[in-house]
Amino acid sequence: MKCSVCGVNQGTKLCDYVVDQVISVRQVLNRTCDKSLCVSCSLHLGGNYDFCPEHAQKIKKQMFEREKQVCRQ
Ligand SMILES: [Zn+2]
Ligand SMILES: [Zn+2]
Repeated sequence: MKCSVCGVNQGTKLCDYVVDQVISVRQVLNRTCDKSLCVSCSLHLGGNYDFCPEHAQKIKKQMFEREKQVCRQ
């Protein structure tokens, strides 16, 4: 599968951003973005997770918002 961001390299990673949660009787399934990403297009924000550029930006923004809230307290 080709990388869905650059369309050039082989996509070896998937975006781990949780877009939806499917709650069934037995378990909670996290539906992730699952965009295929090559090494140079995936963004690493700690842990074992890789994100597409779009979602990495979203997460960074969320982290920033949280930090602002902490400062205000
Ligand atoms: Zn790529
Ligand atoms: Zn994504």
